[in-house]
Amino acid sequence: MQYKLENPVHGTIGTGKYQCTIEWRNGKFIADEPVTSGGKDMGPDPFTLLLSSLASCTLVTMRMYIDRKGWDIPEIVVNANMYKETKEAGPDDPVGRGKITTIIDRDIIFLSPVEAEQKQRLLEIANHCPISKILEGDIKVRTFLFKDSETEKKINYANDEITVVWKPEFCQHAARCWKQLPEVFDYKKKAWINPHGAASERIIEQVKKCPSGALSFFYNNETANGSRI
Ligand code: SF4
Repeated sequence: MQYKLENPVHGTIGTGKYQCTIEWRNGKFIADEPVTSGGKDMGPDPFTLLLSSLASCTLVTMRMYIDRKGWDIPEIVVNANMYKETKEAGPDDPVGRGKITTIIDRDIIFLSPVEAEQKQRLLEIANHCPISKILEGDIKVRTFLFKDSETEKKINYANDEITVVWKPEFCQHAARCWKQLPEVFDYKKKAWINPHGAASERIIEQVKKCPSGALSFFYNNETANGSRI
């Protein structure tokens, strides 16, 4: 298992209605709700972000293909929107709620003349862009609830230089650490973290990749204010 992003998309919200700060690998932006939903419309709403993801992925995928082919197609536009369709409850639907399907419509517009054959090929390419495949594939959202109390159980694993701290209740068991550094992290063993299994720098690098905060470390010669002795 390997996450697509090196660091997860990181979102926070305070008490302001309803601005969320979204951090990505190279900066931050604000997401918000429209005024009609009680927000201030300071940034894209979640539906817009979802559709933006599809629009940009479609455009980038087509541009890569066009450039590879050396075609002269300078500008392309994608419009994306969505609606919900409810199918009436039928005999095969014992709960009788009907089935809701979300339909996303994506329009591709070329702003210069493009041959019919090229258009057809680009339509196929657009349909296979990575975000299309995700949206039309088998998606599962797993949600983990993290505890934040300092009183959580902590287990220390030390070598001469560093101590790795593991908080079992934070651990998602997402397998990242033991797949990426099995010399140190081996869930089959009782003392499952071996701090002697790799160089401290490599262990620190892996600890920093833990998505849940279950892993942290400190230098053994660190003082209370964080400076090294
Ligand atoms: S310690 Fe972190 S990286 Fe390792 S399994 Fe738990 S959550 Fe995943």
